[in-house]
Amino acid sequence: MPSDDLVAPALLLGGRLSIDFANIPSYPGAPAQHLSWEELIAFLEASHIVSAERGASLLALSGSDPDAAQTLLSRSVRLRDALRRAFGATVRKEGIAREWAEPINQILRITEGHDELVFGGNLWKMEFQAREGGLDWLLAAVARSAAEIIVEGAQARLRICANPACGLFFTDNSRTHRRRWCSMAVCGNRHKVASFARRHAS
Ligand SMILES: [Zn+2]
Repeated sequence: MPSDDLVAPALLLGGRLSIDFANIPSYPGAPAQHLSWEELIAFLEASHIVSAERGASLLALSGSDPDAAQTLLSRSVRLRDALRRAFGATVRKEGIAREWAEPINQILRITEGHDELVFGGNLWKMEFQAREGGLDWLLAAVARSAAEIIVEGAQARLRICANPACGLFFTDNSRTHRRRWCSMAVCGNRHKVASFARRHAS
């Protein structure tokens, strides 16, 4: 993983956008319950949903338009918690409750729009044009990614880290489909060190 993808506190190791979103704010070893405006913006930047410039202007929004920032933050927490429940149920091969799909559908509904060709100075790129303004479109790609994973079901190879104290989700796209850890560097090594110590203590 390139080191520039490791922007604290957004640890991108899930393999797909909505999995990383379900994990935020993910400190090495465990996701947390709270979510601050700064952590949300750091995630949007780290996952390239917004540029650094846009991220900086969004950060300022909590001062200039606190109501708008609070609305997006509560919508994000609601979406994230629904993803954690839905993904957890998928890992355990249980059904997904309709109420967990609702926060995803809510974002999918508001974020109608279309792609448009935009000339960016020396090259063309596709840019999503939201039908309505507002901040909800920032969650559009996350909601779409989550909807795709839920439709894929078992094929998405969604897993939860084998470290019981961790709880981070990831997609197992390893060749052997035997990935056990959110990250070898974080939980995998911790496990190796612990079992090494156990072997040598006995
Ligand atoms: Zn882990």
